[in-house]
This record gives sequence, structure tokens and C-alpha cells, in this order.
Amino acid sequence: MKPEKLMEKLKGVLGSSYKIYPDSMKQVDGAMFLLAKKDKEKLLVVIGPSNVTGAFSGEYVGEVELKETKEKSKVKISERNHKNLMVLRKLLPWLNPSPCGKRSSFGTGDRLGIATPAHVKAFEGKKCFPFLAQQSVREMSRTGRNWVSVLDDTLWGVFESGYEGPFGADADHVKTIDDLKAAIVAGYTMFTIDPSDHVVDPKTVEKPMAEQIYSELDKEHGFSSRYLGKVYEIGDKKYTFEEDSLREVVITYGKAIDHVEDCYRLLKSENPNPFDLEVSVDETSTPTTPLAHIFIAEELKRRDIEFANLALRFVGEWQKAIDYIGNLNLLDDTLAEHSAIAKAFGPYKLSLHSGSDKFSAYPVFAKHVNDLFHVKTAGTSYLEAIRVVARRNPKLYRRVHDFALQRFETDKASYHVTTDLSKIPDLLEVPDTKLEKLLDEPNTRQVIHITYGSVLTAKGSDGKYLFRDELYETLCDYEREHYEQVTSHIRKHMELLGL
Ligand SMILES: [Zn+2]
Repeated sequence: MKPEKLMEKLKGVLGSSYKIYPDSMKQVDGAMFLLAKKDKEKLLVVIGPSNVTGAFSGEYVGEVELKETKEKSKVKISERNHKNLMVLRKLLPWLNPSPCGKRSSFGTGDRLGIATPAHVKAFEGKKCFPFLAQQSVREMSRTGRNWVSVLDDTLWGVFESGYEGPFGADADHVKTIDDLKAAIVAGYTMFTIDPSDHVVDPKTVEKPMAEQIYSELDKEHGFSSRYLGKVYEIGDKKYTFEEDSLREVVITYGKAIDHVEDCYRLLKSENPNPFDLEVSVDETSTPTTPLAHIFIAEELKRRDIEFANLALRFVGEWQKAIDYIGNLNLLDDTLAEHSAIAKAFGPYKLSLHSGSDKFSAYPVFAKHVNDLFHVKTAGTSYLEAIRVVARRNPKLYRRVHDFALQRFETDKASYHVTTDLSKIPDLLEVPDTKLEKLLDEPNTRQVIHITYGSVLTAKGSDGKYLFRDELYETLCDYEREHYEQVTSHIRKHMELLGL
């Protein structure tokens, strides 16, 4: 039966209060699945024989002919909950994430859990593997989400979009074994191990302590006999581990690599499915030197740790939600070295974190990593959502903005930013029509970007959310506009990356 004809018949059963998402309509084995919205709630509609509809919880609302045979199929309205999604994932296998391997990829984190259809659209026609689910432990702790709810939100978004291609799910910045175990159980396909709790800044430890760390690690791994005096010729550069430089990288990264190894062994034993591994040392106080990069890559290789991506701390400032701050020529030179090392030891992908809005740095990055890279964004999609709120619900935006300013000092802990609050215009002097322009001002961007957790979870004395419900409602009312805003902003990233 033609989709238009079926839609007509369905409308007859569902009534005019339901809005059907036509892209979501999927027909499998004599049954049909689609997403519909009633008032502000999105619901799963299952049509088919009772052995299919019976597997979902929900309410039967009528019957409709799926085929021309006049045979009637039952229509069931089901909630978008985890249980129903698990049934749906078995029937529509493309709703399951898969590993990426060594292809260029791009991560679109979604703090609100409603942007996936917009993200999917951004990838259209781009030669790039999408990581549609991607949240870090820090993000989830701020928004009150967990591995399962993040993945579920993403998969419902994939279903809504009708997308049937591959995509990954990145458990981002996993620091502890417990968090890793939970991510494995939830079915993630990429694990980004962040060993930063085990990275030691040699400048901050007393000399005897540093000595002790070095000698213990050296005794265990024989670093001095392995590396001292060893020369690496990579590209047109020569790198040598001298006494001091070896000591420095061992003290800094020695324990961190041990932690990565522990995580990897756990993944190998407890995760039955193929997966991507990313090692991220991007959140360190100083940039990763080429020698440190060689040490990390060499050690991961020596321990048979198969990794797809390595996230380094590159030179310059990679602050949240604003463009790159730093010397692009220096970035150019150091990226040339790092990508030569990644090719020599891998090839593996260099992964760029805090990739939101680094527009001036993308062409430089793309020049060196050309076909093998990973980029992560998250906050920028949230900011585009807030831009729609500023445009469509200025009163709400003003409240969010004032609250964000109050929360900023507290919330900025664990983020590295140099925000200057004095540069943010006084809201009383900004007319409604100019509010969204504030989201182009770097300091305002950072304040809004960093306070997302407080904004999304703050409750009043009556126990009700201060902003959350109204934010989601506004974005639901202007859903298409929200999607378009996010899609075009993510595509801007991709285009500057040469995709
Ligand atoms: Zn990171």
C-alpha cells in the first residue's frame, strides 16, 4: 500500500491530534512501526499481527489494513520507554550502534537528548562515520542522565529520522573501572578511557616523591633499558629519549598507561562485541610533546592494546564552545609532527576533543590528519538549542541567562576557561530581538555552555523544575527550527574539516 494512502487510513484510526513522522515509518515482516506526536509527547505506533504488537506494552486503539488484502492489522500506541525500545531494536537491527574502526568519524554529543534527528541530517552526503551517542561521565553527572538513558534518547532519535546507516555510541571520558563496566553493560561501541586521574604533573610533586614514582615504574616495566638513548626518526624529525626527558614522560604518563591497560583487559574479558578504544590524555595542563606521544603509542603497542583513536592535548587553548585561541602556525607545525607519529605507529586516528566551534583550527587539523581523524562536539548543539529559545521564548532565555551568571563561578570548576564576565552585555539593555546575538559573544557562550547541568536540573522550593520543562516545551513547539539550527551548525564544522 502506498505510504500516503496508509497515512490517510492511520489518521482515521489515530485521530487528528496525532502528528506522524513520515520518515520514521518502517515496514518489517508484515508489521509497521512509526513515531507520532500527540500534544507534546512522542509515541511509538506499532501496527501488525498480535504476535508483534503483543511484544510491546501499550494500548490498542483500532485496526487498519496494512496491505491491499483487506486483512486487518492491530494498531497499538506504545510509550517510548527502554523496554519497548529493546523490542524494537531486535526488529529493526539498524537501531543498534556498531564499531567504526579506522575511518574518519565525528561525534555529536547531545546533552538534551532530543537533537539526534538534527545530527543525522548533518551527516547526509558526508564521508564520515557518525557517533550519534556521546556523553562523558561529567556531562551525565551534571544532567542526571546515565549510559542507558543517553543511548535510548539517541536511538529514539535515529528511529524518528528513519536513518538506517551505521553509527557509533561513545562512552566518553570514562575514568573509573565501575563507570566502564556500566558502559559495557549498556552496549556502547566506543570506550574513551581518560586516565587523567593517574597522570602526574612532575612540577607539582616533590623531588623524592618523583624519584620514587620513577624507580617503581622503571622496576616494573624496565623503561630505562627500553628507551634510554633510543632514537626515533619520524618524518624529517629525530627524537631521542635522554635521561631527563624519559624521566619526565614516565612520571607523567607511566601510571596512566597502566590504568589504560587495566581498562583494556577488562573490556577484552567482559565485552563480547567488537569495540573502538580511544585513549584520551587531552585534559592535561600542558600540551603533549612529540616524545610523550611516542612513549604513549609505543607503550600501548608493546602491551598489545588495540586502540583506534588517541586524543592528545594540542598546543593553544581549546576552550569550551569558542574558537581556537593560539598561534595557528605553531599548531600547524606540531600537528605535522603528531600526525607523522600517528602514521608511523598506527595508523590510528588523532582525536580532537572540545571540537565545538574551533572553526579557525579545523582547516589546519584537516590538512595534517586528512582522512583519519575523530572530532568530538557536544556543547555547541546545546548552545544552538538555547539560541532557538532566545529567539522564540525571550522571557525564558532571560531567566536562564541570569541564573547561569549566578551559577558560573561554581560550575566552571573542572573546566578550563578564561571567561570575562564584564564583557557580557547587561541583559536589561538588550532588546528581545537581539537576544540570540548574545550566543555569538564568546563570554556569554561559555557561561551558557558551562552551566547546562544547573540550568537543566535546578528546582524551585515547590520541587518543580525552574527551567527544564519550559525549555523542552519551547524546543518541542519549534522542533523543526531547532533541528535546522543544529544541522546547519554541525555542517559548518564538517565543511571546514573538508568533509
Ligand atoms: Zn576531552
